[in-house]
Parts: sequence; C-alpha cells; structure tokens
Amino acid sequence: MDYVVTPPRIMSAQVAGSAGRFPVHRIYCVGSNYPAHAQEMGRTGREPPVFFMKPADALLPVDSGEEGRLPYPSLTHDFHHEVELVVAIGEGGCDIARAEAQRHVFGYAVGLDMTRRDLQAAMKKRSGPWCIGKAFEHAAPLGPITAQAREVQLGTGQIALNVNGVERQRSAIAQMIWSVPDIIAHLSAAWTLVPGDLVFTGTPAGVAAVERGDLMEASVTGLEPLRVRVV
Ligand code: MN
Repeated sequence: MDYVVTPPRIMSAQVAGSAGRFPVHRIYCVGSNYPAHAQEMGRTGREPPVFFMKPADALLPVDSGEEGRLPYPSLTHDFHHEVELVVAIGEGGCDIARAEAQRHVFGYAVGLDMTRRDLQAAMKKRSGPWCIGKAFEHAAPLGPITAQAREVQLGTGQIALNVNGVERQRSAIAQMIWSVPDIIAHLSAAWTLVPGDLVFTGTPAGVAAVERGDLMEASVTGLEPLRVRVV
C-alpha cells in the first residue's frame, strides 16, 4: 500500500512482565466517577455516566522505572492532574452485559487524565465540547499495564497522587460510582469496543494545578506506579 502522506504510528503501552506491548486504539474517559470529585465539580454524583475521548496519540506511555516528561501545554494557565485507574480492553464487543464485562479486560494501569481546566470550564459555560480541555498532545500519561491474569485485587485497593512528595488525591477504588463492569456495559452500548481500547475510569477529589518542574507520582494498589514530570 502506498500512502500519500506518512501514516500515523501506532501508540502503545508497556505490559508488565512481558516483551510485548499493548497497541492503543481509542482512549475513552469517564467523567465524575467518585462522589467527592463530582461534588467538587458541581454535580451530585447521581447523574448517568459522562463519556469523552482523547485521541490515541494523546498517550504519553511511561515504562517501568522511568520518569515521563510532560510538556506544559499551550493556551492554559490552569493545568490539572486527575489520577485514574485505566482499563485496557483485550476482547471487543458491543452491548456487553455487566456479568460478562470482566472477560473483555486485558489488564489495568495507572493513568493521568491531564486537563486544561480553564479551557474546559470555558467550553462548559458555552455548552460546547471539551476537546480543547481534554484532548491534546501528551494529555494521557500512562504507566505499564498489568495483565489481569496476575489477579489485581482492585476491590480493596487505593488510588493516590502525590505532587512533589505531597499527597493531593487519595481514595478507595471501591468509592467509584460506576464500577469497571458498569462502565464497560454503558460504554459498549454506545460504541463497539475493540482490543486496544483504553478506558480512564474517573478521578477522586483533590484535582489541582501543576506547574513546570512538578513531579507527579500516581499509584493504584497492585499496579506499577506512574511518575511524570511537567517540563
Ligand atoms: Mn478524568
């Protein structure tokens, strides 16, 4: 096949304990999935799930033991961190039942839904799409994926984010309003999931701004941590 311009490269994430990498198709995100964060964003937390997407090339994959470098993006003066549990889809489908959802999961990773909050807020005010606030280069830092076969115990786990060694966000994963099976059921009713899709499952309370030079350390119990410096 001859292409008239250079075709885009496949973005991929490291898989812990494997030489193979996980190729990324789409990046789905869930908004407001922890009650305290929904409230800090002005909602009750009882609304149906909100989904948005980031382009695959927004991925900033950070391999095990590495410190990712995240360029401070253009246009914003309020660049926010959102630490999130990320689900990697290994088996596609549509209209997936909650009871069947788990077998569509390849594994889990720690991610950051980086947000140009001022631009997102301006678009919300105009009832416009959030793309400019959410879907830009390097907006989706992601640590290595831990395959589900390694039996990650998410039910009792914690999700947390430190900035320069100071804790900003922490919650029990169990606080999620929509569980991973709930999310897969809702998402797959709206879109056909395919292997390679990633799902960012929402952030707990404590979102705030970072500046150039800040070091973000994100963690979920049982998964490889994610370290990213804003440059
Ligand atoms: Mn988010």
